[in-house]
Amino acid sequence: MGGYTAPMPTIRMVGFDADDTLWHSETYFQAAHAEFERIVGRYVDLADAGVHERLLATERENIRLFGYGAKGMTLSMIETAIALSGERISAADLHRIVALGKSILQHPVELLPGVREAVAAVAATHRVVLITKGDLFHQERKVAASGLSDLFQRIEIVSEKDEASYARLLREFEVEAGGFAMVGNSLKSDIAPVLALGGWGIHVPYPLVWALERAEVDPAHPRFASVEHASAVPAVLARWEEGVAA
Ligand SMILES: [Mg+2]
Repeated sequence: MGGYTAPMPTIRMVGFDADDTLWHSETYFQAAHAEFERIVGRYVDLADAGVHERLLATERENIRLFGYGAKGMTLSMIETAIALSGERISAADLHRIVALGKSILQHPVELLPGVREAVAAVAATHRVVLITKGDLFHQERKVAASGLSDLFQRIEIVSEKDEASYARLLREFEVEAGGFAMVGNSLKSDIAPVLALGGWGIHVPYPLVWALERAEVDPAHPRFASVEHASAVPAVLARWEEGVAA
């Protein structure tokens, strides 16, 4: 008679997103957008010019060339300001836009409530990895400043978080999609592609969502949960694993 054997945990690896999941980020980007509108407002009627929509359209177009992050956004702000002002924007104002971009790259890293405890609790029972996209330099700096890097087995900074990049990472980690859960604030980048591959997704919404990160996920999906704070993540994983083991 063999003794009691604990069931093999169904979920072997847990990925955490970084920006707006572990620490504040979008707050700084949106503050920069608002300041950008004030600068461009010196040249155009803000209501008529659709500054916000124009900047978003330029960013969407440029992501293919620049990738995600503050440096690409800075170039998109400059391009939009030049176009909207009919090439009249002053060098002093262009300088202000560059300074805005630099300020985002230097914003303080402020952890969201309960994050360190939640990641540590998950790391006690699972392999944990950090998976983020954006400027390589900026992301590396934030990971270092967060004081969380010791908790993660791997830190992956990728150019896009879609099905193809998750499939590649899971092959590298040697984990089946069904043994992987991703935790993040973006339904588009953190949840939908992982569910599509057969993995699990825990959505931790952040109050602000960048327009280019919006997506829909069926809230009744059997491998999906939404929680208010990261502190609820360990309990969701435990519930799922009990459910599968039962
Ligand atoms: Mg995020």
